[in-house]
Amino acid sequence: MGKVADLHVHTDVSDGTFSPKKVVGLAKLEGLDAIAITDHDTCAAITPAIIIAKDMDIEIIPGVELTAELEDGEIHILGYFIDWQDSSFIKKLEELCRVREERAKEILRRLSEQGIDLKYEDLLEIVGSRTGSVGRLHIANLLYKKGKVACIREAFTKYIGNDSPAYVKKFKLSPKEAVDMIKAVGGVSVLAHPKTINIETKPLKDIVKMLAGEGIQGIEAYHSDHNNRESSEFKKLASEYGLLITGGSDCHGLGKKEVLLGKVKVPYELVEKLRDAAIAR
Ligand code: AMP
Ligand code: FE
Ligand code: FE
Ligand code: ZN
Repeated sequence: MGKVADLHVHTDVSDGTFSPKKVVGLAKLEGLDAIAITDHDTCAAITPAIIIAKDMDIEIIPGVELTAELEDGEIHILGYFIDWQDSSFIKKLEELCRVREERAKEILRRLSEQGIDLKYEDLLEIVGSRTGSVGRLHIANLLYKKGKVACIREAFTKYIGNDSPAYVKKFKLSPKEAVDMIKAVGGVSVLAHPKTINIETKPLKDIVKMLAGEGIQGIEAYHSDHNNRESSEFKKLASEYGLLITGGSDCHGLGKKEVLLGKVKVPYELVEKLRDAAIAR
């Protein structure tokens, strides 16, 4: 069998629950030859993962997952082969993480208006000491732990999902700003999990067209939420706009209760195309 990769993996420096060490070990067990670490708004896991992976014959692709706001919803943009040590990039990520803390407090305030009182200290316990990037998945897990919801999904549909009463936007990073931020550190930008984009006023095709115009270079066609038919559709969309395709599990450790690492394996050829696109820029 040819080499395979999982190009969308979170660690416990954002809302995954596994340390970089655990992620690399699991990736090896899953038979992966390469993984991209793509935490939300932080690259703190990349150097530790590279150090651990060195002796294990597994390649770590430096990545990140940014959120961009549209008028009517949000999209996630992945960055690959970025210079994660660039100091002005790190500064920007730190600012995004600081805003995340304020936002988490605001979400808890809104939840209390819904009659659900959660303490910020209890949230910090879920978040753990290694995390710099607090997010809604942590809050979903706190709601679950406190018995306020029966599952993680319910936390989103009832309380903190994009159309729910306690949803709070993060910040105004436009798609162009997210793409440019990745470009500035030599990376390739990719539209993450197109299936989860649910913007009533705009069909996906229009969004992809707009993003292609703003310099996005790929679409995540394969993802643990996509079935075969959907992946084919996204591949078609990518070829229509001359975009690369990628794929990954979007594993969050036990954050989503099911460990997804290695559930999506893409041929290593896609990694080579991504790398070529990064070098060409
Ligand atoms: P944030 O970046 O803080 O807005 O949180 C986004 C996180 O919430 C990502 O890890 C998503 O995968 C997760 N998420 C969003 N919607 C859902 C959902 N309906 N069920 C489970 N996780 C979700
Ligand atoms: Fe996440
Ligand atoms: Fe995402
Ligand atoms: Zn993700």
